[in-house]
Amino acid sequence: MKVPMLDLKPQYAQLKHLLLPEIMDVIENQTFILGPKVSKLEKELSDYIGTRFTIGCSSGTDALLMALMALDIGQGDEVITTPYTFFATAGSIARVGARAVFVDIEPDTFLMNIEQVEKKISLKTKAIMPVHLFGQCVDMEPLLALAKKYNLKVIEDAAQAIGSGYKGKNAGTMGDIGCFSFFPSKNLGCFGDGGLVSTNSETLNERLKGLRVHGGQIQYHHNEVGLNARLDALQAAVVSVKLPYLKSWTEGRRRHAAIYNELFAGNPNVVTPVEKTDRYHIYNQYVIRVKNRDALKAYLTEKEIGCAVYYPLSLHQQKCFANLGYTEGSFPESEKAAKETLALPVYPEMSEEQLKFVAAAVNEFTCKKG
Ligand SMILES: *Cc1c(COP(=O)(O)O)cnc(C)c1O
Repeated sequence: MKVPMLDLKPQYAQLKHLLLPEIMDVIENQTFILGPKVSKLEKELSDYIGTRFTIGCSSGTDALLMALMALDIGQGDEVITTPYTFFATAGSIARVGARAVFVDIEPDTFLMNIEQVEKKISLKTKAIMPVHLFGQCVDMEPLLALAKKYNLKVIEDAAQAIGSGYKGKNAGTMGDIGCFSFFPSKNLGCFGDGGLVSTNSETLNERLKGLRVHGGQIQYHHNEVGLNARLDALQAAVVSVKLPYLKSWTEGRRRHAAIYNELFAGNPNVVTPVEKTDRYHIYNQYVIRVKNRDALKAYLTEKEIGCAVYYPLSLHQQKCFANLGYTEGSFPESEKAAKETLALPVYPEMSEEQLKFVAAAVNEFTCKKG
């Protein structure tokens, strides 16, 4: 049996009959950039996510950039975030000229440790950027309280967390701005790059819409220097077709996570993901922690079982962030997670046999070595 880390083909097969006419419709109309398909998707996603406005854009990375720019964050400013995340989180902060200030993660959830935030707040701090990593929301209540106390903006990196919940609220609705990605491996993926920004603020909505098209909503009139960060109609059409299925796909991922949890329950050498009782985890990734991670990865790869390391380096260890002045040991939990975590396939179309096959291989290896 072969189990890929992610197989997008069954999802395409399921929806091909709906996707192709929508794609053909875009081609027949020859309206490729923004336009009615993007506006329609924005309405649908405002409903799904639960914010007054959403703004389709070219990627999750550009969503983060637009968010920072819309909040006037740049040179001389600091943004507090986690070092244990995809590169784009801190990359976008650096790209606008601001400084990423990291706090370590909680060892059980891999999410930023809010208890460490307050002592990192300086006169230069403009915002906090929580990352709802792997599909589980950050503990937002204390974070929002700090933001209020110190008058800081909150940008949620919800790229891995569409539909994820915290105390009855959705990811991307709790801060000033939420940022999403339609990269194909996210829970709601398009056929290329795509992203989305969410906000309840009318002022920010206007600003973001301008930033998306070179800093001015009226063609050839520029209030500021923006980006070319538009979502194209083909991607919007694909996301619109997929959106009605997202809930059931998420339920599938959650079911698979529960099955894994059960299959690993008797194995003391595998630490399974922790879902906090006040959250709704959407399992963009199912991430276990093991002592001999690299050897397990090699073993699974040899058995043609897909797995992946998210992420092999904490961001403070990246060459391009050496200038931030962190050293080895600056964020021990994040560094430890980078050595011990392994993501297993959890996509909704997996069969129970595949889940059992993966778990059996993991159990066999970790117990043998354990
Ligand atoms: C995927 C991702 C991004 C960036 O999204 P792209 O669409 O790939 O640019 C940002 N942050 C996190 C946490 C992500 O997982």
